[in-house]
Amino acid sequence: MTINQIIKRTLERLKRENKQITPEFYREAFCKEAKAAGIIVEDCNQVQKHTSKLDKSLQDELKQYRVKSLNELITYFVAKLNRTNPAESNSQNTALNTLLKRILQTIASMHNAELSALSTKSIKDLDLVTNANQIEKIKDNWVVFLTSYDDSFLDILKPYGKVNKHDIKNTLENLKMDSKTAGNVGDYQNLALLFVSSFVPSIASSVNEELAELSQEIRENPQSLNTQAMMSSIKEAIKLRISIDKAHIKKMLSALDSVLEKLSIQILALIDRTDHSGKEISNIKKNLENLEIGENDDFKSAHKKLYTIASSLEEETKLLGFELKEHNKEVSEMENKIKALEKELTIAKKASREDALTKLYNKRALDEFLEIREGEFKRYKKPYSVVFFDIDLFKIVNDTYGHDAGDIVLKGFAQVFKKLARNVDIVGRYGGEEFLAILSETDHKGAQVFAEKVRAKLEISRFIHEGRKLKVTISGGIAYREEFPSIKQMMKSADDKLYQAKENGRNQIVQ
Ligand code: GH3
Ligand code: MG
Ligand code: MG
Repeated sequence: MTINQIIKRTLERLKRENKQITPEFYREAFCKEAKAAGIIVEDCNQVQKHTSKLDKSLQDELKQYRVKSLNELITYFVAKLNRTNPAESNSQNTALNTLLKRILQTIASMHNAELSALSTKSIKDLDLVTNANQIEKIKDNWVVFLTSYDDSFLDILKPYGKVNKHDIKNTLENLKMDSKTAGNVGDYQNLALLFVSSFVPSIASSVNEELAELSQEIRENPQSLNTQAMMSSIKEAIKLRISIDKAHIKKMLSALDSVLEKLSIQILALIDRTDHSGKEISNIKKNLENLEIGENDDFKSAHKKLYTIASSLEEETKLLGFELKEHNKEVSEMENKIKALEKELTIAKKASREDALTKLYNKRALDEFLEIREGEFKRYKKPYSVVFFDIDLFKIVNDTYGHDAGDIVLKGFAQVFKKLARNVDIVGRYGGEEFLAILSETDHKGAQVFAEKVRAKLEISRFIHEGRKLKVTISGGIAYREEFPSIKQMMKSADDKLYQAKENGRNQIVQ
């Protein structure tokens, strides 16, 4: 086939393929027709001639870009040369590739099967990479891994300790597990509740911050109960809880003490003033009402009890107070009556033993004293004497100056008589103008001295009546008990001696 025939076919091909007759299309179509005719045209193999000497990867790339002409080939290289410094780019790529592999090797040695497998696979894939698409595939695998990775499986460790997902090593180091406890988380949870409730003070309502923290920790991590550190923390916590309770009891007691002290003081005062008991109890109630109460519930309930007691006391004492008042009225009325009666009795008693005019003992009293002295004489041989006095010619006084004048003389003599007698002596009016002295531990000599003293004193005494000075004398008769076998005989003898004194001229004592 001639060159003209090939040209003809080339033009027909261009027409058939509906292509314009540009130098590029013409060259392409001519080379195809020449090749089909079995004619080797130097110009048609120029590109292949150059590219066959290139690196295989470059040859592939040129194929991708469909470089068919020498012109295109030159353009490709110009573009390539303008784009990068291949030497530099290559060494940097190699370094990055090596770094990537080291990182992947490191990740492959980590303790995660999935991660390790992906790393190993990536290292292998990188060795086979010839183009960017393959790198893209490797990258996609990692994106899938990262987006689908789920670390919630670590939560399973929570019952055994604090889980730090960013530090597994540390997490594992702090986990407290042994074969015995591993399966009994439930038991620890129950135990934890028991421990936590044992920390709450039984009396004090407030929980210390330290106790609250520890309780929280045990609730969150019941298995920590198995650790030595927690054991000692619990010991300390129980000590603390007991001390809180103790302190609270102390506080409560001292508060109660002060209430009771106040109450007891007021109750004591109340006992002293039963008349106002109702009012006093009201005051106690009021004081309790006004008492400062702390925030503590237990103390509040104690206070409430005391208040209730005070309230019921108030009611009781209102009734009691009323009854007492009524009763007191009766009692004081009776007391007054008794006092009046006692007074009357004393007066009557006195009157029964006292002479109304002279206020000396009367005959009845004198007889009683004589009986006592007689008893003493008989039992203890205690001696005594008696003196009978009788005012001389008294009738004349009465007859001359009147009965009143006689009375004044009688009263006046009684004073003299009483004054001269010793305390132990008994002096009294035996009747009319007759007087008797009973002289203890006195013989007739002593009796004589006394009687004479009385006689002499009366002799010089003057009694004033209606401006007149009255004077009288007296006679006396003495008898000493030891000289007589009986009291009766002694008395008779004294009376006899008095008669003798009258007989002898009056104003004298006879013994
Ligand atoms: P003699 O010296 O002998 O004793 O004489 P006399 O007058 O004292 O004795 P007599 O027995 O005759 O009188 C006693 C008088 O004493 C009689 C009576 O009026 C009087 N008399 C007795 N008791 C009272 C009295 O209480 N008051 C007054 N004023 N006189 C009385
Ligand atoms: Mg007489
Ligand atoms: Mg007389």
